[in-house]
Amino acid sequence: MTELLHMRDNYIREFDATVIDIIDNSIILDRTAFYPEGGGQIGDTGILRNEHSEVRIIGTRKREGIIHHIVDGTHSFSTGDTITGTLNWDQRYECMRFHTAQHILSRYLQTNYGLETVGNQISCGTSRADYAPLEKFDEEMKEQVAQGVNELIAQNMDVILQFMPRDDAIRFLKERGYQYRYLEMVPKEVKDFRIIIIGDYDAASCAGTHVANTKEIGSIRLGKTKNVGAGKRRIYFSLK
Ligand SMILES: [Zn+2]
Repeated sequence: MTELLHMRDNYIREFDATVIDIIDNSIILDRTAFYPEGGGQIGDTGILRNEHSEVRIIGTRKREGIIHHIVDGTHSFSTGDTITGTLNWDQRYECMRFHTAQHILSRYLQTNYGLETVGNQISCGTSRADYAPLEKFDEEMKEQVAQGVNELIAQNMDVILQFMPRDDAIRFLKERGYQYRYLEMVPKEVKDFRIIIIGDYDAASCAGTHVANTKEIGSIRLGKTKNVGAGKRRIYFSLK
């Protein structure tokens, strides 16, 4: 298993690690701060280098607990080498701002409109999330939601990462009226949950990367929406 440095600290931009395997066009390290594609968030990109070689990482994926850093081009790394990994921080930090914004948007839509989040994609430029049951989303509603969410963001709420055993996590979310049923669907072998707590406003289990305070988000703009079937509507949003 690769040690995931970003699980406890989302602000690591550079780290040292040891190459433990090279499989086709991927490099496997003993530890990494590169976030792997998943949970709706794109994988990190960046550079791995040491004094002998340097290679660009064009994507990061997780396969059975192992993180694959996908390379673009050739390199002369071999097993046992020590390398320094550097994230493409502009891309990653934008994802962090988007991901925390999506949690607030989702909570806002759940609280005020009774909507459930049924999918999301966090990436650069524009992100999106799918909500149900939502047949229509007119301009008036769009304006109200954007205003409500931006007022929350402007409260400069701290965002805290907390690890909890399964039962504690469920109790924590349940007591505060947050969504918890999806935790019960996670396989029993998962013992610890990572809970993202946004001030007194929201808490959710999530492995994604987040900012430390909502002031880092700035504000959001809601874009087009589209019907994606079965009472679900996709809402696109961007950062201002
Ligand atoms: Zn999340």
